Order: sequence, then structure tokens, then C-alpha cells
Amino acid sequence: MNSCKEDAYQKVAALLQSIKNKKGSALALTGAGISTESGIPDFRSPGSGLWEQMDPMETLSVQVLKGRPKEFYARGFRLLTSMRDASPNLAHQILAGLEEAGYIQGVITQNIDNLHHQAGSRQVWEVHGNTREAYCLSCRWRGPLSELEQQVAQGAIPPRCPLCGGIARPAVVLFGDPMPEAFNEALEAVKKADLLLVVGSSLSVYPVAYLPELVRQLVIINLTPTPQDYRAEVVLHEKASRALAEIYDRLEGKEL
Ligand code: NAD
Repeated sequence: MNSCKEDAYQKVAALLQSIKNKKGSALALTGAGISTESGIPDFRSPGSGLWEQMDPMETLSVQVLKGRPKEFYARGFRLLTSMRDASPNLAHQILAGLEEAGYIQGVITQNIDNLHHQAGSRQVWEVHGNTREAYCLSCRWRGPLSELEQQVAQGAIPPRCPLCGGIARPAVVLFGDPMPEAFNEALEAVKKADLLLVVGSSLSVYPVAYLPELVRQLVIINLTPTPQDYRAEVVLHEKASRALAEIYDRLEGKEL
């Protein structure tokens, strides 16, 4: 291993150790890149990113959901439900382990694939929603996404709320949707944090990409450069599972 990489892993481990010792706060911010090793394509990776096959800003937009629901449920909805067969990878597991061992206090994720929950993370802010749930646009019904899937499979588009018959939709934040309350909670947590560990995000989707600007110490693990690299304490351009495993190995008293 080259000494630059070794120094970088050591430095991240030392930062996390020092924040833990001082009872400070470190948070992770994850994006689609943490889940590519679970077989879910991200948006922007050259060759494999979803952006090369479709325009997600169109396919996964409120405009299409409301204006052309048949198209949304044929393409966007299928894309959302396809993510649910994946399993967490080592990177998700290490973040859950870091929380368990008191090195980080939670994960802010742009992902909708539920993999942090599956890996055992407890404090997860899903700032773009999730693919577990659906809700009604007319009443307060919130239930499993499978309710919508059954209706869509039978050709009932748009799917209806089982309580009031209003239009129901997935609990994912689509392009054009307002941000959910989880984003405000994450924002407040970041303002109080000493360090943000970004994992697998191009940091190009706002307002989430604004969060790293609010912390004093920033660490970025991402295969390709991001617009915030210039102000990070440490930048690691490599696979999330590899970098996190190396950092984890250098911490005291950890257990996976
Ligand atoms: P993005 O596609 O813009 O960026 C992903 C980044 O991850 C890229 O810069 C890429 O170089 C990097 N990357 C890919 N594989 C990696 C790996 N193994 N280790 C480290 N880095 C890796 O994704 P984004 O920044 O999250 O923003 C796009 C939006 O896409 C988000 O809003 C998110 O909700 C949505 N999205 C989510 C999923 C999911 O839930 N898994 C999948 C696709 C898109």
C-alpha cells in the first residue's frame, strides 16, 4: 500500500477516534455510490450510471407522476421497486458498526434502497424518502409500498388509497417534490456535527450537496472527484467498502 493512502486512512481513523474521545459528533452522508457494490446502479458513473439509459429528472419526476401516470408506473415505479431485491454490502455494514461502536451518531442518506436499515444502522435520515412505504395525497394513510404494487400489477393506475380512495403514491422524494421533514432534522444534526463522512455521492444534487458546506471537518470517500474535494481534510478516490474497511481496521475497540 502506498504511504499516502496509509496516511489518509490513519488520519480519518484519528479524527473519528478523537471525536469519540471528546464525546463529539460525527455523521455519515451517503449517496448512490455506496450501493453500487450491492448491484444497484448509481446515476452518474460512466458506463453503468442510470443517467446513460434515461433521464431520471424526467422518469422520476412529479410532473410525470401527475401528468402521465401510466408512463411513471411503467418506467419510474419499476425502477424504484427493482432496488428492493438488493442486500447491504460491507460499506453499509461498517457504517452500522461505526454507529454501534460510538464513532458516528447516524447516517444521512440520499438513497431510497433501505440498505442502511437492513445493515442495522439505527439513526438514519432518509432525506429522499424510501421504497418501503406509500402515502395518500388526500388523507393521512401511510402504508407499505406493496399495496401500490398489487394495484399496479392489476392495471389500476394511478393506484388508490385503501382508506379513502384518493390517489396514493410512493414515499420517495421525486424531482419537483419538496424536501421531507427528515431533511430539516439532518440539517440541524449537521450544524452540530464536528465531522461529516461523505460516502459514494457526487455531491451534485441540491439541497443535500449543501450539507458538507456546513461542517468544519469533511472526509470524502468517492470513486471520482466531487465539487467539495478542495475543502475536505481527507479525500479517498476509491471504493467505499475498501476505504471504510481500511479505516475501520485502524480504530480502537471496534466490532463488526
Ligand atoms: P450519483 O450517481 O450522482 O453519484 C454517485 C457517486 O458515487 C459517483 O460520483 C461515483 O463516482 C461514486 N461511486 C460509484 N460507485 C462507488 C463505490 N463503489 N465506492 C465509492 N464511490 C462510488 O449519486 P448521488 O450523489 O447519490 O445523487 C443522485 C441521486 O440518486 C440521489 O438523490 C439518490 O436518491 C438517487 N439514487 C439512489 C439510488 C439508491 O437508492 N441506491 C440509486 C440511484 C440513484
